[in-house]
Amino acid sequence: MSRSHRPTPLTCLALAAFVAACSDPVAGDALDAVTADAEVSIPGELDADPDAPDQDAQDPDPSDAPTCGATRLAPPSVALSATDLAVPIDVLALDAKVHLDLGTGTASVVATLTFRTSEEGGFPVFDLRQSVSSLTLDGEALPVDALERHDFALAPSGGVLVLRSALAPCSLHHLVLAYTLGPAGPYLRWKPDAVTWSIGLSDVVPGMLLERWFPAPLLHDTFAFHLSVDLAGPATDHLLLANAPVSHHTPGSHWEVAFPDDTDVMSSFFYLAPRRDMTLVEGPGFLFAASRGLPTTIPFDLLGPALVETLADFTRRFGPRPAPGLPFLVVFDLMTFTGGMEYRNAVQLSVKDRDTLRHEVAHTWFGRSLSPARHLDGWVDETLATWTTTTNVLDLVALAARGEASGPRASLDPWLRATYDRRTEGVWPYVIGPAVLDAIATGVGRDLLTATLEDWARDCRGHHITQDDFREVLLTLPAPAFIDALLSTWLIPPHEPPVHGTCPRHAP
Ligand SMILES: [Zn+2]
Repeated sequence: MSRSHRPTPLTCLALAAFVAACSDPVAGDALDAVTADAEVSIPGELDADPDAPDQDAQDPDPSDAPTCGATRLAPPSVALSATDLAVPIDVLALDAKVHLDLGTGTASVVATLTFRTSEEGGFPVFDLRQSVSSLTLDGEALPVDALERHDFALAPSGGVLVLRSALAPCSLHHLVLAYTLGPAGPYLRWKPDAVTWSIGLSDVVPGMLLERWFPAPLLHDTFAFHLSVDLAGPATDHLLLANAPVSHHTPGSHWEVAFPDDTDVMSSFFYLAPRRDMTLVEGPGFLFAASRGLPTTIPFDLLGPALVETLADFTRRFGPRPAPGLPFLVVFDLMTFTGGMEYRNAVQLSVKDRDTLRHEVAHTWFGRSLSPARHLDGWVDETLATWTTTTNVLDLVALAARGEASGPRASLDPWLRATYDRRTEGVWPYVIGPAVLDAIATGVGRDLLTATLEDWARDCRGHHITQDDFREVLLTLPAPAFIDALLSTWLIPPHEPPVHGTCPRHAP
C-alpha cells in the first residue's frame, strides 16, 4: 500500500517490451501450546433437537425449484456418440451419511445427489473419486458399470463420471450411491480406539475437491450439503470441527453438519479427531485447533493477533466475510498437509508463518466469496490473494530477466479441473498475475487500483466471477488499451464472446 509510483509515461515505455501494445497514454514462538481445551466452543456448535424433523427427508420443494436446472456456467455437453449426449446438471442437494467403524477400520458412505437436468436432456455428468458398490436412480437399482469415466479436458484431469441413463430435459432426480472410502493416506488415519479424518481438499490437483469423498457437481454449481457422521466402536471422545453449524446428536460420536445452500465443491471444511489429540485456542471471532504431537510449537500468541488484524482489515476493505457470525477456523495438522488450503471461513495449515495465514485467510474473500465460476477462473483468486497480502511481488521486468516468456497463461478449457496444471506449468497465478497487477498499479496509481478492486469485491461478494469479469473491472481504469494489452500478453488469451459470472455488475 505504501509503494511509490513511477511517472506514468516512463512506465508505459518500460513495459512496452512486455505487452503486445502500449498505445494508450496513461492518465493520471512464543506461547507454548495451550493444553486445556475445556470450555472452548466449537464453530457452529448447536444443541441437537431430538424433535427436529430429519433433515435427510427434506428434499428441495419441486414447486419452488426452477423448471430447468441452471447450467449456464457449466461446461458444454459432449456427444459420446451420434445419439448419446453427456450433459452437465444442476445439483440442488447432497446428503451424505458416513459410518465410521473403529472395529473394522472402515468408513462406509451412502450419499444422495438431488439434481435437475437443464433444457438439454441426456446422460448426467458429475464426479466422485471413490469406487461405488451400489447405485440407485429414482429408487431403481442400476448396475455400477452404468457409471463411466470420461475425460473431456484438454489436459489429463482424471475425468468425470457419466451416468449411462438418458434423462429427460428439465427433470428432477435422486441418485443414491453407496461405497466404502478407499485408502486416503494421512487424510484418514485409524487407531484401535480413534480416527482422524481431514477433508484435505486441493485446487491444484484434479479430483481433490469434494469429489474426493462424495459425489459432487463441477465448480460452477452451488447446492445444500448435509453431512452426517456416525462413529461406532470403543471410541474415545472425538470432536468434529466444521465451517458450518454442527449438531452433536450423540456427543463425541454422532454429528450432523448443515452446510449452506450456496455450498460449492471447494467451500466446505470438516476435521474429525479424538479430542485428546487436539489443542483448542479460542479468540475473538476465531478458533485455532492444532493436532497435539506436532513436531513444532504453534505460536498462538503471535498468530491470533495477526488473524484478528487480517480479518478486520479485509472486512473493512472488501466487505463482510460470508457468515460473519461463525468463528473463523484455523486447523494445524502438520501430519496430513503440506502448505495451506483455503475454505470459506476456514483454513488448514501445515506451516505456522503469518504470511501463509494471511494468504489463506484472504481466500475467504477471493475464492470463497468471490468464487471462481469455473476452474479456468481460479487463477484470479490466487492472484488477488497473493497481491493483497504480499509486498515483494516481482515485476514483469524482473520476471522477463528471469526467463519468463510472454504469452497468456490462462486456459479457455471449460473442462479444466485445476487452478493450473502443476505438471506442466509454473506457479504463474501467484507470480505473473500479481506482477501484472503491479504493472497496472504503477501506471494508474496503486490507490486507484486498490479502491477499484475493493468496490468490485463488495459489489460481487457471494457471487461467481470469471476471468472476463476481472478483465472488465480492470478495463474501467484509465488507459484501458494498455491494461488490455498487459492482460492479453501475460494472462488471458483473446476470445469471444466473454463469459460473465453471476454478479449483477457483470450482467451477461
Ligand atoms: Zn492461494
